[in-house]
Amino acid sequence: LVQLKNVNKHFGALHVLKDINLSVGKGEVIILLGPSGSGKSTLCRTINRLETIDSGEISIDGKLLPEEGKALAQLRAEVGMVFQSFNLFAHKSILDNVTLGPRKVLGKSKAEAEEEAMALLAKVGVDSQAQKMPAQLSGGQQQRVAIARALAMKPKVMLFDEPTSALDPEMVNEVLETMVSLAKEGMTMIVVTHEMGFARRAADRIVFLADGEIVEEATPTEFFTNPKSDRAKDFLGKIL
Ligand code: ATP
Ligand code: MG
Repeated sequence: LVQLKNVNKHFGALHVLKDINLSVGKGEVIILLGPSGSGKSTLCRTINRLETIDSGEISIDGKLLPEEGKALAQLRAEVGMVFQSFNLFAHKSILDNVTLGPRKVLGKSKAEAEEEAMALLAKVGVDSQAQKMPAQLSGGQQQRVAIARALAMKPKVMLFDEPTSALDPEMVNEVLETMVSLAKEGMTMIVVTHEMGFARRAADRIVFLADGEIVEEATPTEFFTNPKSDRAKDFLGKIL
């Protein structure tokens, strides 16, 4: 479903993504691990073209990523993204946050968008908060709204970049549980996280990045019990 071929990216002199080849199947859950600065966020951001690439190809569902214009807006709709900071629109209600994209980009009517939004908010367990403003919700609730908002665009793949890193510890699990149920429903997901328990439990495949290169790809069991590269051993030694 998501295919990266020989993707390279530089920030000035820094070669931040080095010949990345990655293929993500439909329904697959990929967890991206790697030290700080290894390029995990940059890799996620290239997949919905928040960052351009210098060479290589990225395709979603067989279509090459467009450079700009209407096709790019369409593609962004197909790739949902959830960040560390929830990025909800502060001056809009929870319901409006979720209905805005479907109405503006997908051309849905208010009634239809609201009906779908309420179903998604119920699914992530915050439907009772629909009329509130973002600041009135806890961090965990806001992040679940951000997930509902991304899902409202009916994405083919969801990208998560450290979705729980900004949360108080007691709120981490509610967001991870939401992600686990999404994975069980067959959503294709690429997740950057430091939550190793979640990684073990939810990942179909671990992709380990270091210095902009994919150093290792393995099942969670293989990766956590028998990492092959020194860099992965070193990484696991520091966090486990
Ligand atoms: P972390 O675990 O700390 O989030 P990461 O693996 O997500 O790290 P990236 O944010 O992708 O790492 O950054 C990879 C490298 O690219 C880092 O050295 C970073 O300083 C650099 N970098 C990221 N964004 C930019 C930018 N906009 N301009 C210049 N350099 C950048
Ligand atoms: Mg990052």
